Amino acid sequence: MKAVSPVVPNYVDGRWIESISTECLEVINPATREQLAIVKPAAKAEVDEAVRAAKRAFTQWRQTPPIVRARYFFKLRELLERDFEEISQILTSENGKTIAEARGSVRRGIENVEVACGVPSLMQGANLEDVASGVDCEVVRQPLGVFSCITPFNFPAMVPLWFFPLAVACGNTFVVKPSEQTPMSQKKIFELVDEVGFPPGVINLINGAGDAARALIANPDVVGISFVGSSKIAESVYREASAKGKRVQALGGAKNFVVVMPDCDLDKSVANLIDSIYGCAGERCLAASIVLTVGDIHEPLKRKLVEAAKKLKIGNGLSESVTLGPVISQKHKERVISYIEQGIKDGAALVLDGRKPQVAGNLRGFFLGPSVFDNVTPEMTISREEIFGPVACLMKVNDIDEALRVIQQGEYGNATSIFTQSGKAVRKFKYEAGISMIGVNIGVPAPMAFFMFGGAKRSFFGDLKAYGRDGIEFYTDKRIIISRWF
Ligand code: NAD
Repeated sequence: MKAVSPVVPNYVDGRWIESISTECLEVINPATREQLAIVKPAAKAEVDEAVRAAKRAFTQWRQTPPIVRARYFFKLRELLERDFEEISQILTSENGKTIAEARGSVRRGIENVEVACGVPSLMQGANLEDVASGVDCEVVRQPLGVFSCITPFNFPAMVPLWFFPLAVACGNTFVVKPSEQTPMSQKKIFELVDEVGFPPGVINLINGAGDAARALIANPDVVGISFVGSSKIAESVYREASAKGKRVQALGGAKNFVVVMPDCDLDKSVANLIDSIYGCAGERCLAASIVLTVGDIHEPLKRKLVEAAKKLKIGNGLSESVTLGPVISQKHKERVISYIEQGIKDGAALVLDGRKPQVAGNLRGFFLGPSVFDNVTPEMTISREEIFGPVACLMKVNDIDEALRVIQQGEYGNATSIFTQSGKAVRKFKYEAGISMIGVNIGVPAPMAFFMFGGAKRSFFGDLKAYGRDGIEFYTDKRIIISRWF
């Protein structure tokens, strides 16, 4: 008899609670199609209860000295290190990415906790004596109340860690709403939150999909939202939450261009491109999607890229030798295939077809092999829309000016990279691309936790980016006090 799958519970007010909802969403291992768990999407009343718990906890928590708040995160960091491998394996099972990729993203998540440990220094304000005769001025940062994050399926362990550690270390309280497709690594991380012993209500977890997210946005006691997901939803979250007077940072989708100049180190550039295009099965907001080859580099690059792509080993990411895992679901696999079909219809040349891949171990999962399109032009659908799968589009351009024109016309502005030995080309590229995260001979320009993360154009709605100093700004308000003593 098939084992009954465990329901992923919510964590509210320091207690694990199973949702009362009668709806069930399956959590599926994308490599094996095995059912891992069930999500019962939280009803509005349950979301509101989590927000009430967070609001109740706020008064005491904001009065807890920052150094004491930081110590909770030192402890959380230790527990995340202790269970690093277990979290990475859960992540691979729920999302499909390879175990090396999972470890990399958990590491990036822990780095955000490490930054949050520095909050007593990071949160400091400023002051100046004698702004007028006998008058002093000081600026202090204060937390604002209950914040929430709504996060995507592709980095389920890491992305919530971009937000709640810094927000909570700043003295706010928090509700996390992970993707309904990949709730398992957050469940594990919240077991550690529980083990740390944060006061009840300081950090809460609500499972569910769009309705649970909308209930958080609608709740008047939620003062700010950190959203990460597709652009259409990011834009609607931005509009709705900001219209209600909330702070919002909404990180959206991407369509990233990479420029390869004729003077690049070809072998190293191709190795970087393979990781950027096919890493995490292309389900990465920093994934290279369109490779703009400048001049004569086109043919040699195409040959080497196809050769290297053919060497990727497709299979269950839990096996150390696998280098390309499945995409998240059957629906998503069909979506990627429909883009490949559209590309063929629009006249691009499919020089490597990944639609029917050879999979190690004969697994039934949602696998796609690497695909490469040549002769791609800017007006094609595959050039304009986010595919979010293991598909490369090669577009030949004459010079860097033409490459920059194509990039500037793109709707998205998350990331871009250039591969070259020329400082002059790099300077022009950085200056003119108009994209927020730029790599120079780096295919995945992922900023570290002590900088900030976020795009431009339709890849980002808001002004303060995720984490780093922008995170401190986002999660605190600056209060200015002008004093005279008679
Ligand atoms: P998605 O937009 O479908 O879902 C993201 C989150 O929004 C989920 O938690 C989902 O439950 C919730 N949601 C669904 N409907 C909603 C609604 N109507 N209102 C509010 N919330 C709602 O995204 P996904 O498929 O999980 O993730 C992939 C997308 O995320 C890609 O577009 C990718 O580029 C993007 N992404 C962006 C970044 C970035 O930093 N810019 C990082 C990772 C992923």
